[in-house]
Amino acid sequence: MSDSIRRQDASAHMPLAVCHNGRVLATVPSGMDGQYGEDGRPNAVLWSFVTSVAARHWLSPDDTEILVVCHLHPNSSAVDCLDCEPA
Ligand SMILES: [Zn+2]
Repeated sequence: MSDSIRRQDASAHMPLAVCHNGRVLATVPSGMDGQYGEDGRPNAVLWSFVTSVAARHWLSPDDTEILVVCHLHPNSSAVDCLDCEPA
């Protein structure tokens, strides 16, 4: 998990997704997307979702990030979308 969630306030209207290297693995269900503790980490409900998604992709949950989805490219996170921001 990174702290990139803190930099995405402007994109708050887009759904959140569990991402790995900018690729969307799974969209966070609505109702679960506000589940953060005071330290900014996902709480137990959200973390169990992240863990299950990561496991499906043979990843550690710590290798994933919860990011806003690109509004044009639902398979990419907004901050890492190569189609919108070519490297
Ligand atoms: Zn994009």
